Amino acid sequence: MFVGKVYIIVVFYIDLFSCISFYGPIWSYRDESAWPGGFCKKGGKRQSPIDIRTNNVIKDFERQFITNGRLKFIGYENVLSSGINNGHTIQFSTEGDPNMHPTITGGPLKYTYRLEQLHFHWLSEHSINGAKFPMELHFVHVRADLNVSTALSKKDGLAILSVFCNVQPELNEDQLEASEQIMQHIPLLMRTGCRVSGVILNLRKLLSPKINSYFTYLGSLTSPECNEVVVWIIFNNPIYISDAHYHLFGKVGKGRHNFRSQQKINNHQVFQPPDAFITTPKAVIIVTDVFKHVTQFFQNITRQV
Ligand SMILES: [Zn+2]
Repeated sequence: MFVGKVYIIVVFYIDLFSCISFYGPIWSYRDESAWPGGFCKKGGKRQSPIDIRTNNVIKDFERQFITNGRLKFIGYENVLSSGINNGHTIQFSTEGDPNMHPTITGGPLKYTYRLEQLHFHWLSEHSINGAKFPMELHFVHVRADLNVSTALSKKDGLAILSVFCNVQPELNEDQLEASEQIMQHIPLLMRTGCRVSGVILNLRKLLSPKINSYFTYLGSLTSPECNEVVVWIIFNNPIYISDAHYHLFGKVGKGRHNFRSQQKINNHQVFQPPDAFITTPKAVIIVTDVFKHVTQFFQNITRQV
């Protein structure tokens, strides 16, 4: 008698996409005066977002604010996350063991910060010399030694990285690969309450191409309750998304924008790292030198003539 082996195949069904009915957000971008929270209503000394005037930015040669060298990113390559349309924005939150979440340290940060989520604003919230970008990505990090509710009461409880997005009709292969990994999920998240899970993102590719060129200041959350707890790090070199991708966001929430109005400059002091100025590329120094010598050479000749 033949006794065969019995194989049991277990099929796991993973719920990757779902929508729940939402009671709707309790605050809206249509009426900021109705936002909950004292800081949102009355303002404060370091509210965000702001317009960054580059003439007023302090180049931090003396390391008054940027005291910890270069920014260091750990674990941004394969990040397990879930995306949700929460009625205010589209947000991707980190999933799984918090100890495995990406972290950032260095630059103006005195602590290590753990990535909690990233989300989109269209148009950008911050601007540079009055110019806004089509979109701004916020990577929200919480101090790794604190839980979220404690972090919301510390002056440096959160660190938010801000990456501007520019739009162009055609992307090159690298730009397309970088944006497609996240943009492919947006059509599933057009309606409030829709969610997609099990998304793996290479977030390094969504960071600015020059990660040590940024503006930084102590500010606030740009949504209720506008807590003054944020170390902002705003990269000045944008990433690129396609026209087609940008148009998708116009349809999220029926074309409604989701940026807070800009806030009055009060105690804000915006800094820039010194590296960008000290480490002028060698080629530039040489060319400048050559130019000086050549100019002097011709001046001498002219004099002799
Ligand atoms: Zn934001």
